[in-house]
Amino acid sequence: MPSTSRSTTRSPPSTAPPSLLSIVIDTNPRAWAALESRLSLSQAISNTLVFVNAHLAFSNTNQVAVIAAHVNRAVWLYPAAAAQKPPAAARDYSGDVQMQDVSAETNNSSSSPSANKYPQFAQIESSVFSSIQSLMAETTVQDLDQVTTQLSGALTLALCRINKASQALSASDTTLSNAAPVNSAAPPPVKSRIVVISVSDSEPSQYIPTMNAVFAAAHNQVAIDTIALAGDSTFLQQACFNTNGIFLKASNPQGLLTYLMFGLIPDTEARESIITPAHDTVDFRTACFCHGRVVDTGFVCSVCLSIFCEPPENAECLTCGTVLALGNYGAKPAVVPRRKKKKKKIANGSGREETGSATGTPKP
Ligand SMILES: [Zn+2]
Ligand SMILES: [Zn+2]
Repeated sequence: MPSTSRSTTRSPPSTAPPSLLSIVIDTNPRAWAALESRLSLSQAISNTLVFVNAHLAFSNTNQVAVIAAHVNRAVWLYPAAAAQKPPAAARDYSGDVQMQDVSAETNNSSSSPSANKYPQFAQIESSVFSSIQSLMAETTVQDLDQVTTQLSGALTLALCRINKASQALSASDTTLSNAAPVNSAAPPPVKSRIVVISVSDSEPSQYIPTMNAVFAAAHNQVAIDTIALAGDSTFLQQACFNTNGIFLKASNPQGLLTYLMFGLIPDTEARESIITPAHDTVDFRTACFCHGRVVDTGFVCSVCLSIFCEPPENAECLTCGTVLALGNYGAKPAVVPRRKKKKKKIANGSGREETGSATGTPKP
């Protein structure tokens, strides 16, 4: 019987766990305008779509989501929330983007015949391009006054999507195998990660929500990878460090596709076997809770661990209200004069300076 022979040749469905990829694109119009001469937003999205296609081509169980982190909100680009409402538009995925105001470059990219394209790739391309066009059309002049990018909202959306997808997958796994309820200590059934394409500075007022999302991601073993094309993304460096993700600072934004394909294509499982291009320094600075300034040294509430750039008024914590004792802050430290060591003359001229400590220089 041909049907049975076909089913025996088919590989078992649960050989490799599916990999969920969520891409967060920072769509801050000011930042992209500054970057325009080297890499335009439409080129960046085209490069990202190639990366998305490569991820989907690895396995037919792989999933992808694309989210825009905009100036004042986070928006789904794929799967588009609006695409589910009109059935006619949802069915029209084999065709390319329908556009009212067609610019020259998007017209070129969408001129290929749909028969030559894998339907899922075309569907994602259509959804991402139409969503970003409506997002840009909805952006008002008032929105441009804000230099903030709603990164925390986009990260939270990505985490929600990953959580929903992994729950759906684990539920289907347990019903199929009729196994015991999922052990909380067991590793998650899916490999999931978030890739952030960042173009703007970290906004200090976004510190707490961003870090909440980062710790939620770390708890769920979701890696956050970042490619920083421009700007000073302090918090994303910490996000990558805390979640074992990869942070790439792109010195040449034109090569976005190369950075994506060579730096960020391996999933969290594959990374255990390869050496990833890591960023050697991490900016661990934090933002104070009182003014939202990024501080090097600050005051920490001993009860709720809130951080302040200066002692709060009446020494009362602004978050939990605890009256804090500052000790003898501001007093001159009592310095015990050090006994002067007699300088030993170095015999044989070894050239090594006397550092005063018995231990050697620590190895990295
Ligand atoms: Zn402050
Ligand atoms: Zn406190």
